Amino acid sequence: MNLILMGLPGAGKGTQAERIVATYGIPQISTGDMFREAIKNETALGLKAKSFMDAGDLVPDEVTNGIVKERLAQKDTEKGFLLDGFPRTLDQAEALEAMLKDLNKKIDAVIEIQVAEKVLIERLAGRYMCRNCGATYHKIFNPTKVEDTCDRCGGHEFYQREDDKPETVKNRLAVNMEASAPILDFYKQAGLLHSLDGDRDIDEVFSDVEKIIG
Ligand SMILES: [Zn+2]
Repeated sequence: MNLILMGLPGAGKGTQAERIVATYGIPQISTGDMFREAIKNETALGLKAKSFMDAGDLVPDEVTNGIVKERLAQKDTEKGFLLDGFPRTLDQAEALEAMLKDLNKKIDAVIEIQVAEKVLIERLAGRYMCRNCGATYHKIFNPTKVEDTCDRCGGHEFYQREDDKPETVKNRLAVNMEASAPILDFYKQAGLLHSLDGDRDIDEVFSDVEKIIG
């Protein structure tokens, strides 16, 4: 089973990916891991990628695609693989089709975990800190025991990091949505897209994933 997992930050992709890997014994292939491995092993493409990263430049598609292709050609993908974080652009999605064809493989399903923007903002923008002692809390997952009072030092002043502010989170989500829309459309046209409601219990979401993988 060759799968692509898609979903916005905060949608719970990581948790579902872990479950898929544990249940089906297929490798999770994320772009970050692939880059790290290629650089560590000093492959020709890894060194090329590193030269762009060291210069503070974006790694060009041809280098990224080459690294993905090398990874998909490895033996542990015979039973299948789970792609995570790739493709990021429509060009990469098209390149993936071509490289899989070369390798005599194809994508069987694209699983999109959908969660409403409002819920994602609550999840991602909930973190706040005590100004006095730096203790970290989350509005939903880990609030202070007494409202507006730090559990650790009793302080009453809190703040949010720039990255955790709703406006910043909203922008990050907007950028992600805009980038993923054409990719989702591409796989929808190909009849491969399965969109799941991710605003449910982890087990319920995974039970839907299992139905798709069948
Ligand atoms: Zn405190």
